[in-house]
Amino acid sequence: MKSRKAVVTTMPSKTNLKSLSKPELESFVKDSGLPLFRAKQLVHWIYERHALSIADITEFSKDLREKLSGKAYLSSPELVSRLVSEDGTEKFLFGLEDGERIECVLIPDEERLTLCISSQAGCAMGCRFCLTGRLGLKRNLFAHEIADQVIAAARIIAPRRITNIVLMGMGEPLANIENVAEALRRITGLMKISPRRVTLSTAGIVPAIRELPKKAPPVNLAVSLNATTDAVRNSVMPVNRTYPLGKLFEACRKYPLQPRRKITFEYVLLKDVNDSAGDARRLVCLLKGIPSKVNLIPFNPYEGAEFGRPDDERVLEFQQVLLKGSLTALIRKSKGREIQAACGQLEAGYR
Ligand code: SAH
Ligand code: SF4
Repeated sequence: MKSRKAVVTTMPSKTNLKSLSKPELESFVKDSGLPLFRAKQLVHWIYERHALSIADITEFSKDLREKLSGKAYLSSPELVSRLVSEDGTEKFLFGLEDGERIECVLIPDEERLTLCISSQAGCAMGCRFCLTGRLGLKRNLFAHEIADQVIAAARIIAPRRITNIVLMGMGEPLANIENVAEALRRITGLMKISPRRVTLSTAGIVPAIRELPKKAPPVNLAVSLNATTDAVRNSVMPVNRTYPLGKLFEACRKYPLQPRRKITFEYVLLKDVNDSAGDARRLVCLLKGIPSKVNLIPFNPYEGAEFGRPDDERVLEFQQVLLKGSLTALIRKSKGREIQAACGQLEAGYR
């Protein structure tokens, strides 16, 4: 790995207000001898007005801003690069305070503007088809580093507005569940994006799937399935050796879904590995009785990949079997491939 550690910009003596949850922010305000309504104003300016610094909070008097700036600050990820693809997809590379790097992707689709955010720098899960997996885990992101991707992207693209959030960028969200749950509280509660418009995707960490509804707001769940037998799934997704299909589906069946909601099953189609008509038929059987929809993602290749992308005809045949089996099955358009922004292509310049 190339070492590109940035100069550390933290100010240890000062409190990063972004690192505080709402109750912690209230305690901070109280401990600073300020009335509680200041906490509400801070929340508004940080999460809705996207203030970059305490000096930006013009609702506060100059004196108050100076007083607060003496003991606190607001961190922001640094925009290192912004790539725009021909189809309108954009990829942002952000540098964090300790020099780690993460990517997030903005995907315009008709009236939607979806932001795909990262939950970890790198990923420890080691799925063989995923470029992020090849990096290994650098570290978990803090809650504010997850939520800050939304704030930073919103600033960059204003006046356009982000309508949907997917946790499908770098990392396995359920391997960082505490920080992810707090970030989701901020995104839905403080930034006021409806949980219906937020989707968390997991490779299938079963105990954390059970924990999620107790810890986080009721966002949508997506499961990266990618195989219909334990043998194939074991070989492409090491997590399956710990949490095989039987356990994964038991957790999915018991998942407390909100009315009219479904679990999304993502299925990366790998040429000659999991793309046969038999696989499609098994998928129909596996999903029986689960309110579900399937997102088919033809493999997005990258340099040195050990898998191939099935041709369009094969993908359509696979979809047909699912549709005949009364499943909802969409083929995900691979957006932003030429800027390495499509599923599984995020490596934040680490390679
Ligand atoms: N770690 C979580 C969140 C990341 S989402 C998870 O795996 O669900 C990334 C999605 O992209 C997953 O559904 C994964 O199966 C898919 N993916 C990974 N590599 C891919 C590739 N090369 N081509 C297409 N999809 C890929
Ligand atoms: Fe991690 Fe998801 Fe990539 Fe697997 S697919 S390595 S879990 S980011």
